[in-house]
Amino acid sequence: MTTIQLRGHHLLCLLGFRGMGYSEAYAANMARVYNRLREEPDTAVTIVAGPDELCACFPANAEPHCENASVSQLDESVLAKLELDIGHSLPWSAVIERVRGNVEPEDINTLCHTCQWRSYGVCEAGVRTVKSGQQLPPLP
Ligand code: SF4
Repeated sequence: MTTIQLRGHHLLCLLGFRGMGYSEAYAANMARVYNRLREEPDTAVTIVAGPDELCACFPANAEPHCENASVSQLDESVLAKLELDIGHSLPWSAVIERVRGNVEPEDINTLCHTCQWRSYGVCEAGVRTVKSGQQLPPLP
Protein backbone atom coordinates (compact mmCIF):
# COMPACT_ATOMS: atom_id res chain seq x y z
CA MET A 1 0.00 0.00 0.00
CA THR A 2 1.58 3.31 -1.02
CA THR A 3 1.92 6.24 1.33
CA ILE A 4 0.06 9.43 0.46
CA GLN A 5 2.32 12.49 0.54
CA LEU A 6 0.57 15.50 2.03
CA ARG A 7 1.70 18.95 3.11
CA GLY A 8 0.52 20.28 6.47
CA HIS A 9 -2.47 22.40 5.57
CA HIS A 10 -3.92 19.79 3.23
CA LEU A 11 -4.57 17.58 6.25
CA LEU A 12 -7.32 20.05 7.15
CA CYS A 13 -8.39 20.87 3.58
CA LEU A 14 -9.28 17.22 3.06
CA LEU A 15 -11.71 17.33 6.00
CA GLY A 16 -13.71 20.02 4.26
CA PHE A 17 -13.46 18.70 0.71
CA ARG A 18 -16.90 18.63 -0.90
CA GLY A 19 -15.80 18.31 -4.51
CA MET A 20 -14.68 21.87 -5.19
CA GLY A 21 -11.21 22.71 -6.48
CA TYR A 22 -9.06 24.91 -8.68
CA SER A 23 -9.99 22.87 -11.79
CA GLU A 24 -11.84 19.70 -12.75
CA ALA A 25 -8.58 17.72 -12.78
CA TYR A 26 -7.51 19.15 -9.43
CA ALA A 27 -10.85 18.24 -7.85
CA ALA A 28 -10.79 14.74 -9.40
CA ASN A 29 -7.33 14.08 -7.97
CA MET A 30 -8.39 15.39 -4.57
CA ALA A 31 -11.50 13.19 -4.71
CA ARG A 32 -9.26 10.18 -5.39
CA VAL A 33 -7.16 10.93 -2.29
CA TYR A 34 -10.23 11.77 -0.19
CA ASN A 35 -12.03 8.55 -1.13
CA ARG A 36 -8.98 6.42 -0.43
CA LEU A 37 -8.59 7.96 3.04
CA ARG A 38 -12.31 7.64 3.69
CA GLU A 39 -12.49 4.02 2.60
CA GLU A 40 -9.09 2.96 4.00
CA PRO A 41 -8.43 5.11 7.09
CA ASP A 42 -5.36 3.04 7.96
CA THR A 43 -3.64 4.38 4.82
CA ALA A 44 -0.25 5.85 5.71
CA VAL A 45 0.21 9.56 5.19
CA THR A 46 3.69 11.13 5.04
CA ILE A 47 4.05 14.81 5.84
CA VAL A 48 6.09 16.63 3.21
CA ALA A 49 7.42 20.17 2.87
CA GLY A 50 6.07 22.13 -0.08
CA PRO A 51 4.08 20.79 -3.03
CA ASP A 52 2.42 17.40 -2.52
CA GLU A 53 0.12 14.92 -4.25
CA LEU A 54 -2.71 17.45 -4.36
CA CYS A 55 -0.51 20.31 -5.63
CA ALA A 56 0.61 17.97 -8.45
CA CYS A 57 -2.71 18.68 -10.20
CA PHE A 58 -2.78 22.44 -9.62
CA PRO A 59 -3.70 23.92 -13.03
CA ALA A 60 -0.78 25.25 -15.06
CA ASN A 61 -2.84 28.21 -16.28
CA ALA A 62 -3.74 29.48 -12.77
CA GLU A 63 -1.73 31.92 -10.67
CA PRO A 64 0.79 29.60 -8.94
CA HIS A 65 0.93 29.66 -5.15
CA CYS A 66 2.01 26.16 -4.06
CA GLU A 67 5.59 27.30 -3.41
CA ASN A 68 4.70 30.62 -1.79
CA ALA A 69 6.14 31.37 1.63
CA SER A 70 2.66 32.23 2.94
CA VAL A 71 1.44 28.74 2.07
CA SER A 72 4.47 27.15 3.76
CA GLN A 73 3.68 29.27 6.80
CA LEU A 74 0.15 27.87 6.78
CA ASP A 75 1.60 24.35 6.63
CA GLU A 76 3.78 25.11 9.64
CA SER A 77 0.88 26.54 11.64
CA VAL A 78 -1.29 23.49 10.97
CA LEU A 79 1.54 21.05 11.75
CA ALA A 80 2.27 22.87 15.01
CA LYS A 81 -1.41 22.63 15.93
CA LEU A 82 -1.42 18.90 15.19
CA GLU A 83 1.99 18.35 16.81
CA LEU A 84 3.38 16.84 13.62
CA ASP A 85 6.63 17.38 11.76
CA ILE A 86 7.86 17.16 8.17
CA GLY A 87 8.83 13.55 7.41
CA HIS A 88 6.41 12.10 9.96
CA SER A 89 4.42 9.09 8.64
CA LEU A 90 1.26 7.99 10.35
CA PRO A 91 -2.08 6.37 9.47
CA TRP A 92 -4.80 8.77 8.36
CA SER A 93 -6.87 7.56 11.33
CA ALA A 94 -4.15 8.96 13.62
CA VAL A 95 -4.36 12.32 11.83
CA ILE A 96 -8.10 12.31 12.55
CA GLU A 97 -7.37 11.57 16.23
CA ARG A 98 -5.01 14.55 16.39
CA VAL A 99 -7.63 16.80 14.83
CA ARG A 100 -10.14 15.60 17.42
CA GLY A 101 -7.75 16.36 20.25
CA ASN A 102 -6.00 19.51 19.04
CA VAL A 103 -8.24 21.51 16.69
CA GLU A 104 -11.47 23.43 17.24
CA PRO A 105 -13.72 24.25 14.25
CA GLU A 106 -13.19 27.98 14.91
CA ASP A 107 -9.42 27.52 14.56
CA ILE A 108 -9.92 27.44 10.78
CA ASN A 109 -10.74 31.16 10.91
CA THR A 110 -7.36 32.04 12.38
CA LEU A 111 -5.17 29.34 10.87
CA CYS A 112 -6.55 29.85 7.36
CA HIS A 113 -7.44 33.54 7.38
CA THR A 114 -5.83 34.06 3.94
CA CYS A 115 -7.54 31.13 2.19
CA GLN A 116 -10.10 31.76 -0.54
CA TRP A 117 -12.08 28.64 0.41
CA ARG A 118 -12.52 29.48 4.10
CA SER A 119 -15.72 31.50 3.66
CA TYR A 120 -17.58 28.45 2.34
CA GLY A 121 -17.53 27.06 5.89
CA VAL A 122 -16.90 23.52 4.72
CA CYS A 123 -13.54 23.13 6.49
CA GLU A 124 -14.93 24.33 9.80
CA ALA A 125 -17.82 21.88 9.29
CA GLY A 126 -15.34 19.10 8.47
CA VAL A 127 -13.48 19.63 11.73
CA ARG A 128 -16.82 19.61 13.56
CA THR A 129 -17.79 16.34 11.85
CA VAL A 130 -14.66 14.44 12.84
CA LYS A 131 -14.72 15.89 16.35
CA SER A 132 -18.23 14.49 16.76
CA GLY A 133 -16.73 11.04 16.22
CA GLN A 134 -17.80 10.57 12.63
CA GLN A 135 -15.55 9.57 9.75
CA LEU A 136 -15.30 11.50 6.50
CA PRO A 137 -18.71 11.57 4.77
CA PRO A 138 -19.24 10.41 1.18
CA LEU A 139 -18.71 13.12 -1.42
CA PRO A 140 -21.88 14.82 -2.70
S1 SF4 B 1 -9.76 27.16 4.78
FE1 SF4 B 1 -8.42 26.75 3.01
S2 SF4 B 1 -6.43 26.17 3.83
FE2 SF4 B 1 -7.91 26.06 5.51
S3 SF4 B 1 -8.53 23.92 5.55
FE3 SF4 B 1 -9.98 25.00 4.26
S4 SF4 B 1 -9.26 24.85 2.13
FE4 SF4 B 1 -7.57 24.28 3.53
